[in-house]
Amino acid sequence: MLRIGIDLGGTKTEGVLMDAAGHIVHRERRATPADKGYEAILENLAGLVRDLDRRAGRACHVGIGTPGAISTRTGLLKNSNTTCLNGKPIKQDLERLLAREVRIANDANCFALSEALDGAGRGEPVVFGVILGTGVGGGIVVNGQIVEGLQHIAGEWGHNVLEADGPECYCGKRGCVETFLSGPGLVRDYVTHGGESGLDAISIVARANAHDHIAQAALQRYLERFGRALSVVVNILDPHVIVLGGGMSNIKHLYRDGRDHLARAVFAAHGRANVALDRMSGASNDELRTRLVANVHGDSSGVRGAAQLWPTSAG
Ligand SMILES: [Zn+2]
Repeated sequence: MLRIGIDLGGTKTEGVLMDAAGHIVHRERRATPADKGYEAILENLAGLVRDLDRRAGRACHVGIGTPGAISTRTGLLKNSNTTCLNGKPIKQDLERLLAREVRIANDANCFALSEALDGAGRGEPVVFGVILGTGVGGGIVVNGQIVEGLQHIAGEWGHNVLEADGPECYCGKRGCVETFLSGPGLVRDYVTHGGESGLDAISIVARANAHDHIAQAALQRYLERFGRALSVVVNILDPHVIVLGGGMSNIKHLYRDGRDHLARAVFAAHGRANVALDRMSGASNDELRTRLVANVHGDSSGVRGAAQLWPTSAG
């Protein structure tokens, strides 16, 4: 049975038809009319669904992934970076327009769901999906189910405070993980420490690989912060696998040096005697068996996870 998955972003809206085997059989992209306001975004979404329905030959189940979350208290969208959507009853309005139930989830949760069900975390009981891009997000999937949490913020490690004297974050705090581990976070750190301005994060990593010592130092700080920030998640959730997504997940060093920093930073469940033994044997933390892997579905994870908010058995 075909399901519709939609990734509602600030600049583009992408919709797919996905079959029961998880294959995307049709894909459409449209600009998100964010400058025209809420009603225009609603109409754009409804029009996209109707076009996909026509192609499928029936009214399909619809799942939508978007930044932010539906408040359990008010039923309104909150924390979206497409700010005209905040405080709006987007779920109810779309359900009225489309005359069917619509499922909406945070885009990082959709990413985690897609990777947990049939991606890099397939078959693992506890999956933590990480988005490292222009922002830093995360989602938790346990036994194939998204863990939303009471406030719908479960997995939002990007706004844990990593360094209290760090840069200001849009959320109102200072030194959030996102201010260091997002692409703009790496750029800021590089420039602050004497790097040339005007480069993007991937270019800075390329310079580090070409032995530019200012870029290398920025990358080393990035990897150390990555390990320290993620260790907080591992200490609480202890997932079987951590799947990385977003543009920064292409940094190969994360899976080696970044993981080494993580292993050093997580709680090591052995006493002092064992620590001494570890020091003698040169081991850092042989307890960490958590796999740290790249995603397999890439940019399609958002739309796939949105469609997968409906089970394949949904008729
Ligand atoms: Zn923050």
